[in-house]
Amino acid sequence: MFLVAGMGSRMKDLGARGGRCPACGGSKGLHITKESQTVSLFFIPVASFNSRYYATCGACASVMGLDKEAGRRAERIPGSEISADELSVIRNLNGERCQDCGRRVYPDQQFCPGCGRRIYT
Ligand SMILES: [Zn+2]
Ligand SMILES: [Zn+2]
Repeated sequence: MFLVAGMGSRMKDLGARGGRCPACGGSKGLHITKESQTVSLFFIPVASFNSRYYATCGACASVMGLDKEAGRRAERIPGSEISADELSVIRNLNGERCQDCGRRVYPDQQFCPGCGRRIYT
């Protein structure tokens, strides 16, 4: 028997949900995307696994990983809110805060402009 099986990944746009962005503190909304690995037979996806959820801030465009449970909830309930402890920042477009003086340092600045501490290596 000849079997055509394939693996791939699929991105699904789940739309915006309410929630505060842990990177900028804004509450303009978080855009949720679901990424899953798929197995297809004869080019028809038959199973998906390893689903991961991501949130993109509507204000600063930073990217956060979303807790799996929270992702499932966001997928089921369109009006659900996402709380800050369900998010982990993957890409912070606001720069990091200096641990010594608290100033924001952006990825193009290797050293803190306030105290000179090295932030990015
Ligand atoms: Zn943000
Ligand atoms: Zn500093």
